[in-house]
Amino acid sequence: AAKEAGRDAVRFFDPAMEEAANHKGQILGEMRQSIFNNEFVLHYQPQLDLSTEKLIGFEALVRWKHPKRGMIPPLDFIPIAEESGLILPLGSWVLEQACLEAAKWPANTYVAVNVSAIQIERSDFLSEVKAVLQRTQLPPERLEIEITESVLMTDQTPAFSFLMGLKEIGVKIALDDFGTGFSSLSYLQNLPLDKIKIDQSFINLSDTDDKACAIIRTITQLAEALQLNTIAEGIERNGQYKLLSELGVNSGQGYWYARPMPAEEITAFIEGKKAL
Ligand code: C2E
Ligand code: MG
Ligand code: MG
Ligand code: MG
Repeated sequence: AAKEAGRDAVRFFDPAMEEAANHKGQILGEMRQSIFNNEFVLHYQPQLDLSTEKLIGFEALVRWKHPKRGMIPPLDFIPIAEESGLILPLGSWVLEQACLEAAKWPANTYVAVNVSAIQIERSDFLSEVKAVLQRTQLPPERLEIEITESVLMTDQTPAFSFLMGLKEIGVKIALDDFGTGFSSLSYLQNLPLDKIKIDQSFINLSDTDDKACAIIRTITQLAEALQLNTIAEGIERNGQYKLLSELGVNSGQGYWYARPMPAEEITAFIEGKKAL
């Protein structure tokens, strides 16, 4: 026990850790304010059909427009928002904002929204989705909810009924970052999924590493057999695009096609694609 206390004591005075904790506390305090100050923005990354090369939808990606520190990427604040519960108001804002914007886009496009496990566990998120669709008049088929396997790992019951509820009203469901973490094939068997997002770590290596390529091929064949759509995230090079379309991956997104962009740039982007 003395040893334990000693270790804790050392830890307590560890300046690096103390700094990290202070930093986290500071971010948290600022984040609470920023939700009310409208400091969050959504950028939208285009997704295309790999066989027709046509635009099909956009993924909404949140950023924090910090008044002093500039644009902060989601990985720097989403984990803190999840830990503190702030993801609930933030996630609600993201959903509403994404649906509001998407309602202005062409009817043959959709918006994909990332959702954290906590949103599903700790709130009546299904009712919220229904209310937002009602308010924004976005047809349910034009909304896609992206979940990760962490949603399914904790307690599967709320996630399962949430996903069934989405399916019933016609909202699409995509399993994000597939192939990393605790991928379980039973999810593919039991859940009402529409789409698998093949993690960008495989896409990144697809044109140089035979093993990555074999994994993508296998995921694609599995998805086909289960009648699920596939999307490749993080396509950066033309060679990757060619390979993925040859492997039969249905759709994709990545810097090769377009970077995430602010809402104001979407109309011009769509017009530019039409002109091609
Ligand atoms: P994700 O859902 O897997 O999103 C894809 C990430 O890959 C995005 O990073 C996107 O900007 C980036 N990306 C797109 N194309 C390329 C490419 O060609 N190369 C590379 N290297 N990266 C590419 P971002 O915007 O920084 O978001 C990171 C993660 O933060 C997301 O990963 C998602 O898990 C989370 N996130 C973003 N917005 C939200 C949100 O509104 N709610 C929740 N809960 N999570 C969010
Ligand atoms: Mg995503
Ligand atoms: Mg992803
Ligand atoms: Mg990812």
